[in-house]
Amino acid sequence: ERTKLGKLRRLPAETLDGEEVDLQANLEIPAELPLIANAGAHGIGLLRTEFLFMNRDSLPDEEAHFEAYRPIVEATGEDGVTIRVLDWGGEKDMEALAEGMEPTYAGPNPALGLRGVRMLLKRPELLEVQFAAILRVAALGPVRALLPMVTVPSEVSQAREIYERVAKRLRRKGVALPDKLPMLGAMIETPGAALAADAIALEADFFAIGTNDLAMYTLAVDRAESAVSHLYDPLHPAVLRLIQFATEAALRLRMPVSLCGEMAGNPRLVPLLLGLGLRSLSMNASAVPRVKQAVRTLKIDDCARFARRVMEQSDPARIQELVMEFGKE
Ligand code: PEP
Ligand code: MG
Repeated sequence: ERTKLGKLRRLPAETLDGEEVDLQANLEIPAELPLIANAGAHGIGLLRTEFLFMNRDSLPDEEAHFEAYRPIVEATGEDGVTIRVLDWGGEKDMEALAEGMEPTYAGPNPALGLRGVRMLLKRPELLEVQFAAILRVAALGPVRALLPMVTVPSEVSQAREIYERVAKRLRRKGVALPDKLPMLGAMIETPGAALAADAIALEADFFAIGTNDLAMYTLAVDRAESAVSHLYDPLHPAVLRLIQFATEAALRLRMPVSLCGEMAGNPRLVPLLLGLGLRSLSMNASAVPRVKQAVRTLKIDDCARFARRVMEQSDPARIQELVMEFGKE
């Protein structure tokens, strides 16, 4: 079994009818980097950068960001790295708060408070430092910048103004940047963002659908709350409809869209996700071989037919059944 999955590393993630699927890895700490090459992932679809802010007593400066990204971008090569700017707040470890960071966890409802891009737009100096490092590391390999917790289009346009201002400053200092800056994308991880995806798509260069938070906010179930974990279900039709809506908004504009929540790493969900039109999935590195194996057994037409059947259902339990039965009949 292990050697079989090992051999998969060199095989393409391609359906039986020749449709290529982009399988990328999520990276949470740099120590995971060797796993990614081994898993046969094509690049990093989500580099979480919170690790840079943890267990330290001062904020990381531009150099600290750059030096953290550099080995990752170099190791990933042509496949590219999507670097998500700081997603502080919500469930993300508030105890490791670096000095100078506002205690965002202190609000009455942290998941609905000053987190993600909201916090960065209030503390633009944090965003400037991170953007500068991202733009500089782009000289070493293809990168994209990604904004967490977007809910309105203006958050993307405001962040882009800062992005362009930082680029201008770097150019003045003699840093060579391409005319067309690396893409700046938006996480789609709230119901509001998903339902306004057509408007956000006009401001963003790409979407990364974050189903971990999308399921939490859609179902009003805290992802870290065990008492309601039985209700946490990315296969709930409400979540699936939002994924479908956001995906279709992107596809209509021929804008890149990927899905990077935990569900991307579940091989059983691949037929549904391909059937909804997704061709790019980012997951824990360890999940890549099995997801690739699943992709290689599928035909796109079957996936599309299957997704239509699933999307007709309104009962989460029935959807679960259909998913488990796929390919058996
Ligand atoms: C998500 O919310 O689905 C996601 C990918 O981001 P994170 O898990 O880091 O919140
Ligand atoms: Mg998230």
